[in-house]
Amino acid sequence: MPTERLYDVIVVGGGLTGLSAAHQLALAGKQVLVLESGSRVGGRIYSEKLEETIIEHGAQWIAPNHYMVIELANTLGLEIEKRPHSGQNIYIDKGGRKKFFTGLYPNARLGEWLNNRRIFKKLSQRVVTDPDKPWLSDFAEKLDRQRFSQFLRNKSYSTSYFRMISNIFESRHLNGINHVSSLEATTNWHLYQMQEKWTIRGGADQLSKKLAFEVNVQLGERVTQIVQNHVVLEISGGSQVFRAKNVIVTLPPLQAAQIRYEPPAGPSKESLWQSAEPGRIIKSTLIFERPYWRDKGWSGHTFLSDDYLMNYLVDAGCADHQKGVLTAYTIGSRCLKMENLNEQERINTLFLQIRSVLGLAADVALLSGTTHDWKTPPNGPGAYSTFPPGTLTTYGDYVDQNVGPIYWASAEYDHLFRSTMEGAVRSGRRAAEKILGI
Ligand SMILES: Cc1cc2nc3c(=O)[nH]c(=O)nc-3n(C[C@H](O)[C@H](O)[C@H](O)COP(=O)(O)OP(=O)(O)OC[C@H]3O[C@@H](n4cnc5c(N)ncnc54)[C@H](O)[C@@H]3O)c2cc1C
Repeated sequence: MPTERLYDVIVVGGGLTGLSAAHQLALAGKQVLVLESGSRVGGRIYSEKLEETIIEHGAQWIAPNHYMVIELANTLGLEIEKRPHSGQNIYIDKGGRKKFFTGLYPNARLGEWLNNRRIFKKLSQRVVTDPDKPWLSDFAEKLDRQRFSQFLRNKSYSTSYFRMISNIFESRHLNGINHVSSLEATTNWHLYQMQEKWTIRGGADQLSKKLAFEVNVQLGERVTQIVQNHVVLEISGGSQVFRAKNVIVTLPPLQAAQIRYEPPAGPSKESLWQSAEPGRIIKSTLIFERPYWRDKGWSGHTFLSDDYLMNYLVDAGCADHQKGVLTAYTIGSRCLKMENLNEQERINTLFLQIRSVLGLAADVALLSGTTHDWKTPPNGPGAYSTFPPGTLTTYGDYVDQNVGPIYWASAEYDHLFRSTMEGAVRSGRRAAEKILGI
């Protein structure tokens, strides 16, 4: 039996998208309920304490142009921690050779400089006319058909440069440069240009926890179907059927596709969901007695060839923190190399690889390590989904199009800040504003 209470809006999913939407609606005086399947809010934001240090299994970094997250943090009374990025970055090639550089990409050799100029000039010259609908740009059809890896290959003067720049792009931003189009890379180009890394003091989960204080959330409610009965929607959760005038489903595409909708979402939206490719990341954190790599003037930011388990290593410690914190990202197919290792073997292997690239000071010990595997469906939620080449020009118009009182939002649906916390806030608020008629 459906509950008696009729909400103005029910939000499915208690991640940052859902909580941002619910917050916006509650501020506008709407009766809102968030239904979350898990035992905590935050979804892909997941902070924990290890060795008295806050570590992030999921989302961590904010860039200075993540205006909405920064504004939201300020509203919630949270402090943004600006982490100075200093020292030399390292790229390790397939033979294990180290290349030191400052800035975003190695640029010291003439060949690198020429290549970078060629690639980045091309990318920054293109203007996406409407960032909310990149598929309407003049060049969209052509770029959406081209894999970004193909673009980089065409523009690279040498194979070694292509390998290096692919490794760097892949580790930093894209869950497999083979799986995204040049249109996607062009639209998100501004995301790649931010060297500064900021964080939320006390953990990114402060955002979701504080938002959850301000809205009504019910945990342990996995929504399986949403059915319109005259002007009321009946939303089946784990324990009961809830009633609302509107619903916003804030799940990543493949999870949104698991819900039965009446009226149906429609063939175009369903095709869009099915075409989304969920990416996998194993994010590991190793805590050392102190950040010994800084002694040598190294930033700790290291990009590694596929000889290694990790694609990217980043110093995740604070300037005023005694301990050294390194976060290792293992992305996409490299996760397969870790799959058969148990937790201790994973930490040991990562430790040995880190020691081989950053060395280890005699007076420093590894204190702790942990890994978190964002497995893809059906084994987990995945890290973040990408829309493969051709998807946006075919289905772009359907991404967040509502079907009557049923709306969809997700960090994946924000084209300018796709699959980031900023994208989550933007997408959630956009859905709320549609309902409010703003
Ligand atoms: C390893 C990793 C690193 C990242 N690093 C960064 C970073 O440094 N900076 C950054 O900006 N972003 C980062 N991100 C991306 C960021 O975490 C996401 O873009 C954002 O948190 C997604 O929010 P969301 O609400 O759209 O989705 P989610 O967080 O996935 O929320 C969806 C929620 O819905 C719930 N749910 C699922 N199915 C149902 C159902 N049927 N019924 C009810 N509830 C359901 C889930 O439990 C979940 O809580 C990272 C992500 C990962 C995985």
